[in-house]
Amino acid sequence: MPKLQLHTKIVIGLILGAIFGAIFAINPNKVELNYKDSSEQIENWQEFTYLKKDSVVKTFYHDDQLAIVKYYKNLKDKKDVKLKIKLADGTEKVFENVVSVEKIKSIGVWFKPIGDIFVRLLNMIAVPLVLASLIVGAASLTDLKHVAKIGGKTLGFYALTAVMAITIGLLCVNFIQPGHIMDQSAKDRLLDTYQDDAKSRIEQNVSMNIVEFLVNIVPKNPFKAIADGDFLQIVFFAILTGIFLMQIPKAKSEPVINFFSGISDAMIVLVEKIMIIAPYAVFTLIAATVAEFGFSILKTLMWYSLTVVLGLLILTFIEYPLLLKVFTKIKFRDFIRAQRQVLAVAFSTSSSAATLPVTMDVCEKRLGVPNKIASFVLPLGTTVNMDGTALYQAVATVFIAQVFGFELNLTQQLTIVLTAALAAVGTAPVPGVGLLMLIIVLKSVGVPEEGIALIIGVDRFLDMCRTVPNVLADSLACVVIASSEGELGKIKPDAEYDGAM
Ligand code: ASP
Repeated sequence: MPKLQLHTKIVIGLILGAIFGAIFAINPNKVELNYKDSSEQIENWQEFTYLKKDSVVKTFYHDDQLAIVKYYKNLKDKKDVKLKIKLADGTEKVFENVVSVEKIKSIGVWFKPIGDIFVRLLNMIAVPLVLASLIVGAASLTDLKHVAKIGGKTLGFYALTAVMAITIGLLCVNFIQPGHIMDQSAKDRLLDTYQDDAKSRIEQNVSMNIVEFLVNIVPKNPFKAIADGDFLQIVFFAILTGIFLMQIPKAKSEPVINFFSGISDAMIVLVEKIMIIAPYAVFTLIAATVAEFGFSILKTLMWYSLTVVLGLLILTFIEYPLLLKVFTKIKFRDFIRAQRQVLAVAFSTSSSAATLPVTMDVCEKRLGVPNKIASFVLPLGTTVNMDGTALYQAVATVFIAQVFGFELNLTQQLTIVLTAALAAVGTAPVPGVGLLMLIIVLKSVGVPEEGIALIIGVDRFLDMCRTVPNVLADSLACVVIASSEGELGKIKPDAEYDGAM
């Protein structure tokens, strides 16, 4: 039998994972009530009511499993709480001294720890890689003028693609109007079910005062920035360090640059080894996501989800090929082919940061981007360039406005272009942060922040989808900039990339 290449194995892992997860999906009509020394399973409830001192605090209905579990987890003073459950046959029973309410784990999620280890390993690499490669990247761009030129081109290109992405999102959401298609009862249910979850995110109080935002990019302590994984601060520190390494005598700068260059190379070799487990990890991650996903909510939010996905597809299959054609000679088919692993890792981890080591390796080995450009443009892009997230934030804002009956005029829609572009810059390249930063865009046009309760349920799925163009846009910028500098090598979409194999 011919030996399968790594990317083929990853795709097989992805497909089999989805099938496995669907077969062993968690039963959405069953929960486990755990007591101190025992547990019992409850099936097919009609109503699930939380009581405190015998008065009702919250009632959930038959397909609210996720909300029931989350609500109990976030409850304070659990010992005062009783559960009154009305079963499908109409009988009612009260339960006391419940320690936790859990979904019943299926075999679909058993192997997830393998996927978690994979994601943690990639995340472990991301911070040292961004730091080291940006220092080396900035230091290798001959002089300050060169850094300014490449940096300016990079940021300019990122701004252009972000504005285009948001415009696509706005066109899709204004054309389809998913918020107007949704019926009142679905709106009320979603707002009621997810209001606590939404509140806890709003309480994180993200603010987008532009001055404050810019001031916060400067780290008070770079080591704290590294420890906290604050990518914008790390990028700022690394670029400055790289630039000023060029200004001191070579005898002093060379050992430092060699040191960081060694770290960066070691991280890349490490990622090639880590990728050996990618097919299995992707299998477990996708299986767990599918097994845990509440498909009924996807049905409720079908038009909204379709609008986001349609926008992302236009971004990926119309905007990116166009830009590729205008700025380079690379065929889109080869560009995508070269990045098979990148796409699978981005989709299954929902993290641009975790995908960065793979993207860097692929850009250099397959897309013909020289190291000095890849190591500058990619870490910067991973941090600031999030086209998929920006598009999603624009769609979500207008969707929530439509649901609440707000008509957004042209000025407000232009405000969305600006704030979504900035919110995407401020979004950390890790799962779920795009939803948090959405609050800023909502605030900017006066749409109620509580509206995020409407869309939380499908965020995991849309996060996977938006992370793919987030990452693709970084590689796109890489080839565009390398090409504009006349430094783009030959593209080798099938170059061996099997790590240690
Ligand atoms: N998960 C996204 C990324 O890492 C960020 C987001 O939109 O939440 O690119």
